[in-house]
Amino acid sequence: MEFSLRTEVEQARLAIRGFVDQRLIPLETDPSSYDEHENIRPGLLGELRTDAKAMGLWALSVPLARGGRGFSMADIAPCYEEMNRAIFGPVVFNAAAPDDGNIRVLGQVATEAQKQRWLQPIIDGEVQSAFAMTEPDGCGSDPALTYTTATRTATGWTIHGRKWFITGAGVAKHFILIARTSDDARKGLSAFLFHADQPGWRIVRRIAIMGPEEHGGHCELAFDGLEIPEENLLMNVGDGLKLTQIRLGPARLTHCMRWTGLARRALEIAMAHAETRRSFGATLIDHESVQGLVGSAAMEIQIGRLLTMHAAWKLDQGDFARKEVSMAKIVVADALQKAVDTALQLLGAKGYSKDTVIEWMYRYARQARLVDGASEVHRMVLANTLRAEGRDFFAWDAAHG
Ligand SMILES: Cc1cc2nc3c(=O)[nH]c(=O)nc-3n(C[C@H](O)[C@H](O)[C@H](O)COP(=O)(O)OP(=O)(O)OC[C@H]3O[C@@H](n4cnc5c(N)ncnc54)[C@H](O)[C@@H]3O)c2cc1C
Repeated sequence: MEFSLRTEVEQARLAIRGFVDQRLIPLETDPSSYDEHENIRPGLLGELRTDAKAMGLWALSVPLARGGRGFSMADIAPCYEEMNRAIFGPVVFNAAAPDDGNIRVLGQVATEAQKQRWLQPIIDGEVQSAFAMTEPDGCGSDPALTYTTATRTATGWTIHGRKWFITGAGVAKHFILIARTSDDARKGLSAFLFHADQPGWRIVRRIAIMGPEEHGGHCELAFDGLEIPEENLLMNVGDGLKLTQIRLGPARLTHCMRWTGLARRALEIAMAHAETRRSFGATLIDHESVQGLVGSAAMEIQIGRLLTMHAAWKLDQGDFARKEVSMAKIVVADALQKAVDTALQLLGAKGYSKDTVIEWMYRYARQARLVDGASEVHRMVLANTLRAEGRDFFAWDAAHG
């Protein structure tokens, strides 16, 4: 395995770093940068997106022909990490969830006609998208519990049911929906596309959450006869679970890339404070117990990014990298919480105030152990894989040729 970055990737990484340091981090201390949900104000976002696009730092993983840079998973890992050193970073470069994951999966599974209509406007930043799978008291960790149904009509499908925690749904125009089309254990779910302007569905509420919100929030949706024409079925009938698996591996890993950057930034803030704040005749960083805190936080970030890079490399080889992605997701979610908690602790009372972004990060970071699979479920996946693979669980890939 090769850890050095291609020249083009290193140049993009450095350009992103410069943009983040000069343009994004200074915005964080200015209250006028924020909307009412503690995210970047839409007008300001528009200006920054225009500049990021002009610099060629837009939708890095998208093929050149569709307006991106054609970067592999291993290529985007260091770039996404740099982006999320700023809390507003990913959305400025069109690399935030859920658009990032929706762009990738539509690029992989949609027909050419579907790509033109549903994918290109998301890539171009003209519309936001959402991925609707989780249900109140239904599909969550276990997709077998999905109760939202798609029933055949003469021209397509009609949808009844409920979804919740659908990120971005308050403003999204393009939706990917997972619904039940039969009782088959493996082939019972199917995936569909619909537009926000279609009748037959509504937003019940925008769910109030503990952390800052993505644009469009996290919404509960009710479906009461949404009509979806046959051409807006994604893949084949019964491929809903397969589409979910294709989407969720890379989507989980790009979370890890972004969270690693956020964790690093928290540690940077902690270190800057620990190098200057004095107590009992020394700066904080000269106290051994403080060194232990920042040393182990740094080590856990590095463990997480190595697992992330390994999983990215496996995905680039065409592997689903299920166990590698699960390990990275568990470790990086914990490393993020640990780094932010360490920063808050070392900042003392200031860390608990809104004078720094640490408290924003602290509330945001808690979701990392839940979204895209709770840590317990990823551990279950690892245990099942260990049982199935035995000692091959730890096998190295043999070089070809
Ligand atoms: C901020 C945020 C954004 C989200 N965005 C989206 C979105 O855009 N689209 C979407 O479809 N969903 C979204 N979700 C939903 C998210 O994917 C689910 O919350 C997640 O899959 C867990 O499902 P659940 O909440 O129903 O928890 P449950 O399935 O009810 O699980 C609850 C807890 O039980 C435990 N548990 C469950 N199963 C096991 C097991 N087998 N072994 C051990 N412990 C277990 C875990 O501790 C778990 O946290 C979002 C959630 C959050 C918090």
